[in-house]
Amino acid sequence: MKTIIQGACIIPMTGDEPTSITGDIAIQGDRIIAVGPEIAAAGNDRIIDASRCIAMPGLVNAHTHLAMTLLRNCADDLDLFTWLNEHIWPREALLTPDDIYAGSLLGLAELIRGGVTTYADMYFHQDETVRATLESGISANIGATIIGDEEETRKRLPVLKDLHSRWNQAENGRIRIDVAPHAIYTCSAGSLTLARDLAASLGTMLHIHLSESMKEHQDCMQAHGKTPAEYLYDLGIFEVPVYAAHCVHLSREDVSLCAKLGVRVVHNPTSNLKLANGIAPVQRFLDAGIPVALGTDGASSNNNLNVFEEMHIASVVQKASTGDPKSLNAYDTLRAATVGGAKALGREHEIGMLKPGMMADLILISTDAPHFVPLNNPVSAVVYSAQASDVATVIARGKMIMRNREILTLDMEEVYARAGSSAEKLRLVR
Ligand SMILES: [Zn+2]
Repeated sequence: MKTIIQGACIIPMTGDEPTSITGDIAIQGDRIIAVGPEIAAAGNDRIIDASRCIAMPGLVNAHTHLAMTLLRNCADDLDLFTWLNEHIWPREALLTPDDIYAGSLLGLAELIRGGVTTYADMYFHQDETVRATLESGISANIGATIIGDEEETRKRLPVLKDLHSRWNQAENGRIRIDVAPHAIYTCSAGSLTLARDLAASLGTMLHIHLSESMKEHQDCMQAHGKTPAEYLYDLGIFEVPVYAAHCVHLSREDVSLCAKLGVRVVHNPTSNLKLANGIAPVQRFLDAGIPVALGTDGASSNNNLNVFEEMHIASVVQKASTGDPKSLNAYDTLRAATVGGAKALGREHEIGMLKPGMMADLILISTDAPHFVPLNNPVSAVVYSAQASDVATVIARGKMIMRNREILTLDMEEVYARAGSSAEKLRLVR
């Protein structure tokens, strides 16, 4: 038995130029087996009428801290270091594994409602996030997070290796465990080197915050006489595949270096704007050939996990900051949220495009709303007009996980109850 999605406006994301076709998508098991103008159905095939929908690959949120949903709207309008030191870290110290499970479930519900089928996380008590993700039906690269000096990291190595051996490639690769040293200002040089060695020995990617704020850049210049990217390069970090979040303050030389070394950048425009960190030169990254993905960052510096909003903001802000309306055009923006995200997370052979052989991770966006009329250009409509709430149906690995906006894999009453009680104790922290 196949599932056939019929009559959709399909944006396949397979080419360098924007294209869309009206047609069908056939799914068998967890894979797409055909995409075309009309696919013959057998008697027992399951038919989904998508005649008033745009069908496209599920979105990738390539940088978040999922359980930070519990800290949403608890500390706003602050700079990065005041926000972290005085508000976030004291609250995070109180989070138990149960809280992380609750915050992860809440985050997953928000991701699914917004059409995300793969995400990358960097946080702690990761077993709970993995457990919640497996229940939800979507895929994730989960960071084995490293913070602190060399001695602390050395002590944590067995725990990180256990995490990797427990979950890496779980459910046919739905879960991957990457090594995630937090940043140059929270990890010592020895700790960063251990992170590189761990990633190399396990054969994983490395997920890090890089050049997020001007303070990070200036402190690094003062301490080491190098930019943060040069500092990481000299430590050998880029000898393993890296996806780096933010990259707001990369110099022109840094951009060339990252392009040469195959570093992938995850752009987090809302977080960068809200914490007043600046605007990453995304068009320059693309011109240099750097793969660019999009991320929301955590729900406490955004304050949501809405990749549609991220696309819209990324594109319009890049135009305003460069003075060039052609920069980060609609298709390049949509590529960042799909193909680019897949590339950043090392999943480009399985997700990010609608074509035979790829995982059946796809979304149906209902165009039954005034802001989609007239549907002159489907790519522009998704980037500039769509809302996350327009996502009607989400299919992940061939399984329907949201239908008509109802999430089928999670009990939302339970999700809200758990998140409510976990958030309650954090509210009391000053
Ligand atoms: Zn972050």
